[in-house]
Amino acid sequence: MYIEAENELLQRYHRLSQEVRQLSGRPSTVRLLAVSKTKPVQMIKELFDCGQAAFGENRVQELREKYRFFEEQGWTQPQWHLIGHLQRNKVKYIAPYIELIHSVDSLDLAAEISRQALLYHRVIPILIEVNVAQEDSKFGITVDEVESFVRALAVLPGICVKGLMTVAPFVDDPEENRWIFRKLHEIFIDIQQKNIDNTCICELSMGMSNDYAVAIEEGATIVRIGSSLFGSR
Ligand SMILES: *Cc1c(COP(=O)(O)O)cnc(C)c1O
Repeated sequence: MYIEAENELLQRYHRLSQEVRQLSGRPSTVRLLAVSKTKPVQMIKELFDCGQAAFGENRVQELREKYRFFEEQGWTQPQWHLIGHLQRNKVKYIAPYIELIHSVDSLDLAAEISRQALLYHRVIPILIEVNVAQEDSKFGITVDEVESFVRALAVLPGICVKGLMTVAPFVDDPEENRWIFRKLHEIFIDIQQKNIDNTCICELSMGMSNDYAVAIEEGATIVRIGSSLFGSR
């Protein structure tokens, strides 16, 4: 059968989604988040039209511009996830539509998300960013703080704690990050079993282009993939 050659983006997308499906077993419990930072809206639209539901951005300004572009074109919006560090004063810009915020790491930030969520009459799902590797350069709370932090957030209206996220170091051999993913998975199971009110701990966001296979083996439910999908930045 002759199949017209697809462009490289779509080829990479189909290959990657198939691989994620295979690694995660059946029925698949792992979602692919397409990390579209620095990439043009046309590429996002192309993948969205092929069935990719969710896109991750790390900067509020860029996310707003892309959101607005979709709006101006009259296109259906994809699900937008914020994966990068979020400043309190920028929450208001994304509060009406953000699908999931992966990077909550302070009570002040969570309180502002809560406040904005109430203004927009919605519940905003969030993940807690954990700096498992304890890198100075990274955001996130420490492993020891997770439980008390979840308990502190659980009382805030308008937000729902959905799980945990980590950004692992960039390493040559993804095996070097396995302990990080395993550790976060342990904490995830632990917190899940505590059944804290107003939480629904079901998402584990870990693994990027370089190490998503290892992250899936260790229990990721969302992998955040940029360069392997869109090409290098
Ligand atoms: C950029 C980014 C990614 C994707 O990184 P790639 O290595 O390009 O797949 C994932 N998570 C976060 C938080 C990012 O900032």
